[in-house]
Amino acid sequence: MPAMKLRILGCSGGIGGNLRATTMLLNSDVLIDAGTGVGDLSIDELAAIDHVFLTHAHLDHVTSLPFLVDTVGWMRSKPLVVHAIEPTLEILRQHLFNWKLWPDFTKIPDAQAPYLRFQAIALGETITVSGQKLTQLPANHVVPAAGFQIDSGRSSLVFTGDTTTSDL
Ligand SMILES: [Zn+2]
Repeated sequence: MPAMKLRILGCSGGIGGNLRATTMLLNSDVLIDAGTGVGDLSIDELAAIDHVFLTHAHLDHVTSLPFLVDTVGWMRSKPLVVHAIEPTLEILRQHLFNWKLWPDFTKIPDAQAPYLRFQAIALGETITVSGQKLTQLPANHVVPAAGFQIDSGRSSLVFTGDTTTSDL
């Protein structure tokens, strides 16, 4: 498997000065959470992102998603795929990409070939992207939340997102 290259673009919940809300870039095509750190990437780097894995729907973890898809969606030949547990996706559908706070980019430019696609991920499910295995793990937070194990075959790490004590 290709090596795991992880670039930390943000690891706080705030903005201003050196603060960037939680964002990690895995290799060049996978984002883990989409906080304000996404804004440090170039347009070409933004357009190269194929997958976004979200730990939960709090704004400091999703705030750049609407701008990301609006900025580079037209430059891409396939949808940006957002992976998250179903309750997180439902929050995004109801409260963000709802034609009120932001357009529903899962139907733009049309529902057959949209700029954005939601892909529910189940507890314990593993998805291979960019040569890395990402496995969804449970996490406790005040809203539905998930953590992820990222495994390159040579190295592995677990990112919980926001959490508190957990049974596992
Ligand atoms: Zn949170």
